Parts: sequence; C-alpha cells; structure tokens
Amino acid sequence: MSDVEPTTAPTTAISTSAPVAMPTQSSARPKRGELTLAAPRGGKPPQHLADLDPAERKAAVEALGHKGFRAKQLSTHYFERLVESPQEMSDLPKAIRDDLVAKLLPQLLTPVRTLAADNGKTVKSVYRLHDGALVESVLMRYPKRVTICISSQVGCGMNCPFCATGQEGLTRNMSTAEIVEQVVQAARLLRRGEVAGGAEGAPLRVGNVVFMGMGEALANYGAAVGAIRRITDPAPDGLGMSARGITVSTVGLVPAMDKLAAEGIPLTLALSLHAPDDKLRNELVPINTRWSVDEAIDAAYRYFQVTGRRVSIEYALIRGMNDQGWRADLLGTKLNTRGRGWVHVNPIPLNPTPGSRWTASDPGVEREFVRRLRALGVPTTVRDTRGSDIDGACGQLAAATA
Ligand code: SAH
Repeated sequence: MSDVEPTTAPTTAISTSAPVAMPTQSSARPKRGELTLAAPRGGKPPQHLADLDPAERKAAVEALGHKGFRAKQLSTHYFERLVESPQEMSDLPKAIRDDLVAKLLPQLLTPVRTLAADNGKTVKSVYRLHDGALVESVLMRYPKRVTICISSQVGCGMNCPFCATGQEGLTRNMSTAEIVEQVVQAARLLRRGEVAGGAEGAPLRVGNVVFMGMGEALANYGAAVGAIRRITDPAPDGLGMSARGITVSTVGLVPAMDKLAAEGIPLTLALSLHAPDDKLRNELVPINTRWSVDEAIDAAYRYFQVTGRRVSIEYALIRGMNDQGWRADLLGTKLNTRGRGWVHVNPIPLNPTPGSRWTASDPGVEREFVRRLRALGVPTTVRDTRGSDIDGACGQLAAATA
C-alpha cells in the first residue's frame, strides 16, 4: 500500500458525460471508461454499535429492554479495550451480555486469509462480509508509526484502468461499522504481536488510517464520514485517534471534496491526479470526463484554504504514459498557479495488476520527474510501496477474485 495524504467524493446522483452503468447485484466488469456512481443496493449488513453515535447507542440498548448505561460499557469493551470475546465483558451480567453482543456486536468481518510481506511488517487481511463479499485491508508497520489502509466499498465504480479494484466493478457500499471494524481488527492483530518490526518502544497502536484500499470513499460519503467520526471520537465513544493521522484519497469527486472540507475534520485529502492534462486523465481516471483536471485541482486547493491542511497529489508513474518531463513541468506549473505551500506530490511507482501491460517508469525517468517538480519548488516524495508481493500494494486489492 502506501504512505499518505488526503482526498474527497459525492453523495448524490451525478450526471456524467461518460457512460453510467445501472446498479446491478453482481459486479459485472465495467466497460472501458464506464462509471458506476450509485452503489447497487444489497442486503444491509447487521446493525453494529459502531454504526451508531453515543446517543443512538443508548437508545438502541434501551429499545432492547436494557439500562442505557450498558451502551457505555459496550463502547468501552469495543473501542477502548478491543475485547475479542464476550467472556471478557465481566461487568455485563451473563444473561444480558449474550443479548447485547448478538444485537450490537455481531461479527461483521470474518478473517479468511492473512498474508505477510516485508519480513512480517506488512500484513494483508482478507475478510468475508455477512453476504459473502470479500474485502481487504493492509497493515504497515514502520519504525515510528503504524498505518492501516482500509476499504470503503466492495469493489469500486471508478474504473481506473491501471487499478485492479477498478476492473472488478462496484458490488456495494460498506457500512460505517464494516469500515471501522477493519481498524479494530488491525489494532487487535498488533496487540497480539502478529505484526513484526518496529524498534524498541515503537508504537503498538495504529496511528494512521488511509482510505486507499478498495473503493472510492467519497462515493460512500455518509458511511465513510461516520467511520472517520468513530475512529476519531475520544475513547470510549470511539477509537480516539487523531484526525491528522487520517487520509482520504479520491479520484476527484468535486462536490464531495467541498462537503468534506466543510465537515471541519482536520484530515488529509489526497487527490488521485495521475495526469496534468485532460486528454490523458480522461483515459486514466474516467471521472475526469465529469470534473476536469483544473476543477479537481481547484477543489483540492479549496480544501487547503478551508482546512489549512496540506493536500497530497497522487501520481502513479506509468512507463511511457504519463511520465514525460513536460507533464512534470505542467503539473508543477498548475499547482504553483494556485499558490505555494499548499500541496505535496506523491508519485507512486505503478504496481503491476493482472491483465495490464502497463508497468512502472524506469528509475531514471522517475528521478527526472521528481527533479523537475522539486525544481519548481513543489515538495515531492515518492511513495514507499509496501506489499506488492502479496498483491497488497496500491491498486492491487481485488479480493473478489482472490
Ligand atoms: N478511490 C481512491 C483510492 C484508491 S487507492 C482514489 O482513487 O484515490 C489509492 C491510490 O492508489 C490512488 O491514487 C490510486 O489511483 C492508486 N493506484 C491504483 N492502482 C494503482 C497501481 N496499480 N499502482 C500504483 N498506484 C495505484
């Protein structure tokens, strides 16, 4: 996966000049350039504590005929103590514990497979959801921090041709609790000592969450923002993580980027640009036919203006496609036209995906691309790509076919 910085997306139906698929139950492979903006409706996942805010939890507990304060106890077990088994909830009398656990802490994500890479410091988890759908998340341990890359949809409707998830189409949106549960399971994995690495005294907690797994988080706006609230709400109401450690990556869903800016959450937005010109970006990121390069960059700049958070521009370097020096210059110039100090570019060496002949740029070409951006005064860091040998790197998550 990745090292990161943020992004955004829309909630309402969007008209687009690209062909739009009608929602279907199956995730038929999309045609070239075809966008799926509204998720097919499937059976809803069971309701879970993490879908609810503290007031709703109290109401839900009372509706089940229990005392309202039980909600706080459940929240403490789930978010603060990361309890794995109901037996550990000894402050809940056995008779009511089973009922509360069954109704408010159902198992949403069943681990199917865990794959390690980078000497055990990168762990990809494949989970089965209640309806059999598969999703993936990737935990990356660095000397001084731990990052988890999570999914927000089963599949993705954005159809970027270099991304394995995009080739699978969109099956359905994930619920808030399904999104949060990936972070909770990762935190437990770490606590059980199942992730190698980290210097003595290195953090045992997940500090960074990046919405860069399967899906376009801003196309599942309500659930994604709900998950962000659960992740950042102070314990025991939520996981108590800093919003500054969260990055949301988007293809450039402009209305949702503006909406996210207005939420007042100091998270990082990352924009998947991949080309500075509309002709190429229409091909690489089909949503560009709806919101152009300039519109997407303007929205990223507005995000910076509203939040004061430096935005990240993602740029997968694809050999012979988008890695020319003139494109680096054009990108740098377009960013500088808006202002200085508001943005950071994150080139990503392309990770191979099945059926694609595209490959990463030559190292010399990558260096030159970075050099030109820096020469224009644009901070640029090549993303450290983790987990490519377990298909866990950026753009390789495609659990539906795993
Ligand atoms: N839907 C979100 C999250 C996608 S994954 C978005 O598009 O931003 C995070 C990043 O990985 C995105 O910038 C995405 O374009 C990039 N990516 C996808 N496939 C890739 C690949 N094969 N190699 C490198 N980066 C890739």
